[in-house]
Amino acid sequence: MSVWAILVAAGRGERLGLDRPKAFANLGEEPLLAEPLRRLDACPWVDAIVVVAPPGWEEPAILLAEEEGCGKVRACVPGGEERSDSVRAGLAEVSDDALVILVHDAARPLVTDDVVERVLAPLSEGWDGAVPGVLVGDTLKRVGSGGAVEETVSREGLWAVQTPQAFAADTFRRAFSPSNSLLQATDCAGHVEAAGGRVKVVEGDPRLLKVTTAADLDRITSWL
Ligand code: C5P
Repeated sequence: MSVWAILVAAGRGERLGLDRPKAFANLGEEPLLAEPLRRLDACPWVDAIVVVAPPGWEEPAILLAEEEGCGKVRACVPGGEERSDSVRAGLAEVSDDALVILVHDAARPLVTDDVVERVLAPLSEGWDGAVPGVLVGDTLKRVGSGGAVEETVSREGLWAVQTPQAFAADTFRRAFSPSNSLLQATDCAGHVEAAGGRVKVVEGDPRLLKVTTAADLDRITSWL
């Protein structure tokens, strides 16, 4: 089966407070984007990669892929306003004969072959998609204005979901088709679910932490 990865890296990362987008923040000596790019390129389950770069940063992204010797990169396109716009831009570059589409946040640099294998497995059992998740351990509260607790939410059956997320390509294309463009979801699986797809959660990895703040970058650097 042919597996195409869309690596979304077009976020602004305003909470890092840098003069450049998050994908080009330093992780050790290199731009953050280098780590997930190299890992996906080396992953035996991935056949081809589309990089979705911050608008205006396509050239540095292509140069980085070349420097890293990432031979599976087939295209690099600018992203859009929302994450789902960036996913759509990447999807437009995916070959028609792709059977599986894997979407990964560049902001989660420590993607592993094991987690890719875990999200791909359910697709051959007939699932439309699979996502890595970790059980929510903290108590959850809905909080209103002024910090007032409105409700303590049961955490039973609640999982925090990560990427990489894997989907059967035909289902994924339908979920992201123009007729479904108004569906609201913060991850790709949400779009597939809203379009009627069956998505399975598999074991995630706490090291798939998403970089949001400078402290996250420090923590991930210490894990490398
Ligand atoms: O903004 P957030 O951290 O949730 O973004 C998750 C991933 O989606 C990041 O890798 C980011 O670069 C990407 N993204 C994107 N285009 C956007 C917003 C986010 O590619 N407009």
